[in-house]
Parts: sequence; C-alpha cells; structure tokens
Amino acid sequence: MTDSRALRQYMNLMTSSGISHLPTVTLPKPVAAPGKVLASRLKGANAPTRRAPVNKTGSQSRLMSPDRLAPNSAQRPDVMETTQSLLEQTFGNAEQKAEGLSRLADSVAACKRCTELADTRRQTVFGVGNADADIMFVGEAPGADEDRQGEPFVGAAGQLMDKIITACGLKREEIYICNILRCRPPGNRNPHPQEAANCREFLDGQISIVAPKHIICWGTVAAQNLLGETRPVGRLRGQFLQHGDAKVMCTYHPSYLLRNASAKKLVWEDMKFFMKDLGVDLG
Ligand code: SF4
Repeated sequence: MTDSRALRQYMNLMTSSGISHLPTVTLPKPVAAPGKVLASRLKGANAPTRRAPVNKTGSQSRLMSPDRLAPNSAQRPDVMETTQSLLEQTFGNAEQKAEGLSRLADSVAACKRCTELADTRRQTVFGVGNADADIMFVGEAPGADEDRQGEPFVGAAGQLMDKIITACGLKREEIYICNILRCRPPGNRNPHPQEAANCREFLDGQISIVAPKHIICWGTVAAQNLLGETRPVGRLRGQFLQHGDAKVMCTYHPSYLLRNASAKKLVWEDMKFFMKDLGVDLG
C-alpha cells in the first residue's frame, strides 16, 4: 500500500469517528520519470530564463519563424505546440541544444502527418550525434536498418559512410546526422514531395538548434529538398552552396556508391574539397 493511500484511509477513519477539523494535507508530488525531466524543464514557469546566448559562430541558434515552416503545419496543433514553444527559445551551448533536440524528438515520435509512413514505420528516426556540431549530414530517409534501430545511417550505407568519415580524420560523434524524412518510406521508395514538406519543420528545427557551419547533403533527394533545387547531385557537387548561415556541399549518397563503385573516387574528391574548407589538406 502506498503512503498516500494509507494516509487517506487514516483520515477517513478520523472523519467517521467524529473528528471534523482535519488539517489540510498536501500529498507529495509525483516524481517525473528521468527521461521526462529535460522536457518538463522546458515547459511552464520552471523553464530556465535564457538571455539569448550566443553560439560558437557568434550568432544565436534560433528556430525558423513560423512563416518558414511547412504550409500545412499550422493545421497540426499537436506538433506545432512544441515547435511554437521552441521558437521562443535560443540555444547557446551543447546542453541547451541537446534539450531542444530532445523536445523536438518527442514531437516527432508522436507525428502522424504522413499517414502511410506513420502506419508502416517501426519507429521514427529523428537524428543522432553532437548537438553542438560544426558539421551536419543530411540524408534522404530511414531504410530498413534505420527503422529497426532508430538511428540514421546504420546499415551497409552507414558503414561506408563511417569509412569516409574516418578517412577524413573525423569522428562520427563530432557530427550531427539526420534525414529529410524521419520515417521509413515503404520499400525504400523516394519520399513524396508532400512527405518532405510535412517533415521540413523538423529538419529546419534541427538545423536551427544545432546551427552547423557546414552541411553535407548526401544524394539528390537530400540536396534538392534542403536547397529547393531541381538539379541532380551530379550538377550540384564540386561547389559550396548556402543554406542560412551554413555552407552546403552535395555529394553522392553512400547507397549509390554501394551500387556504383566507380563513383567512390568522385565522393573522395568532394570530401577533399570539403575538408580543405575546414583547413585540412587530404592530398
Ligand atoms: S516523415 Fe516526418 S512528417 Fe511524416 S509522419 Fe514521419 S515524422 Fe511526421
């Protein structure tokens, strides 16, 4: 029997015995589950007051304004509630960014905007990595392995990506990795335009919170959706494009490399070009 239940029974016994003036009793507040603590800290009066901190780039990390969100997101109050709350906050250090991403991930986990994807997914695949990363990777959508494990780029394509990361002298933990979609399209088909539009709010949120200096778009789907481009990745690679404060480089998706080994040398050229901008000469 819990302490509070025993207390109620004792009080009922006192009342039935004719004692009418009982003291006011305040029952103990329920203890939040550990996983909910960060989210609850961001809500209501207990949310920490933030003085618009400045991030490592010298600019504030802030979410996109509502008019830059997907057009139909205003019709989704269940999801918009979280985003609107986040809009009012700034994220100046790794801890604050991790908190913001955690809250956004909660909203994604509940999202059912894309009916087919929500009905067929095992779980949402939000993103992984360093919340305060200088480099962000954006892929296409979760595949079967990602859907099973809940993490982007973990299958054969992910292993190839890990080799590319290592060859560049980087570590996966230094990078933030996400996709255009957070749910697996059945049969690994390409995302439908409406699905990409539905999920854009979350991608924008992740980019705004992490505030990377560089973004790599892996594959045509990632490049076209992030940049609003119509050109294929073969026409977009070999240059830096701009998205907000971030410099964007586009290259082939690791899945494409698994089917077209000859394209590996092109990706390596792209990575040398990319790393040179970071001050690293890969020869
Ligand atoms: S793909 Fe994105 S918008 Fe669509 S249901 Fe999944 S989380 Fe929601």
